[in-house]
Amino acid sequence: MGGPPRRWIDLHLHSTASDGHYAPAKVVEMAAVRGLAAIALTDHDTIDGLPEAAEAASQHQIEFVSGVEIEAAHGRKRLHLLGYGFDPDWPELREALASMLEQRHARNRRIIARLNELGVEIDYESVQKRARGAVGRPHIADELMRRRVVSGFQQAFSKYLGNEAPAYIPREAIDSSAAIAMIRKAGGTVSLAHPGRVTVSSHLELATLIADLRDQGLSAIEVLHPDHNDAQVRHFGELAERFNLRPSGGSDFHSLGRAVHRGVGFAKRRVPYDWLECLRASPHTR
Ligand code: AMP
Ligand code: ZN
Ligand code: FE
Ligand code: FE
Repeated sequence: MGGPPRRWIDLHLHSTASDGHYAPAKVVEMAAVRGLAAIALTDHDTIDGLPEAAEAASQHQIEFVSGVEIEAAHGRKRLHLLGYGFDPDWPELREALASMLEQRHARNRRIIARLNELGVEIDYESVQKRARGAVGRPHIADELMRRRVVSGFQQAFSKYLGNEAPAYIPREAIDSSAAIAMIRKAGGTVSLAHPGRVTVSSHLELATLIADLRDQGLSAIEVLHPDHNDAQVRHFGELAERFNLRPSGGSDFHSLGRAVHRGVGFAKRRVPYDWLECLRASPHTR
């Protein structure tokens, strides 16, 4: 080996197991090229990519942390929760993820039916071919592009799939308290993903929400994320301290061509290795 110790990490990465562009092993290789010390693969609602990523990480001598990103409901709000360091074989976790996947399929079929009603020719089988694991709107958008129904990914959302668009069907989501409890029972810790994307009307509202999630068992908040500007990074760091939560961070890497495109290892600032040690030492871990 030799060389200086690798001190940076990335705890938010997507692969083809959900809506990322690269296979789990390729994402790990990109992290290795960046010289990262540790990574977590956090695909949406699925842990199917973890074995391949763990294997690749051991080849590249990168420390690997099991991860998942779950969409959860908190009252009328939708949040993304990042689970880390859990046992991927925990039966309750596997069952819950399987039922989320089922719900996704049912919802995707409804979106396709709505698109057909709108005169768009598209079938679910060809959409499913575009994904290995958790199929969602990004895969439908890709198929709409391939069929030249739309000229780009963004147009697929503005014209059809976006939350305000005609083919939007809301997705059922697990309650945040249930999601947090489940990850913790599987031996993991939970971080609130990209708080900058949570719709709130005031700082107080966000603080209240975070306090409530903390009471549900949240251990961390994602301070570093490419969406967060400097003021937000500072603000979320302060919130973490105020509520005795750990900071986490990652690139939310999906591909080199989409909105979050700054690559593996880039989360506005680099995420220090210490943060992983803090996360592990958090009182909520089994
Ligand atoms: P789903 O989990 O199927 O609801 O898909 C959610 C994903 O769709 C998000 O993670 C984004 O990648 C993408 N997405 C949602 N809304 C938009 C939008 N307005 N523009 C571009 N991508 C979007
Ligand atoms: Zn995604
Ligand atoms: Fe997210
Ligand atoms: Fe993500």
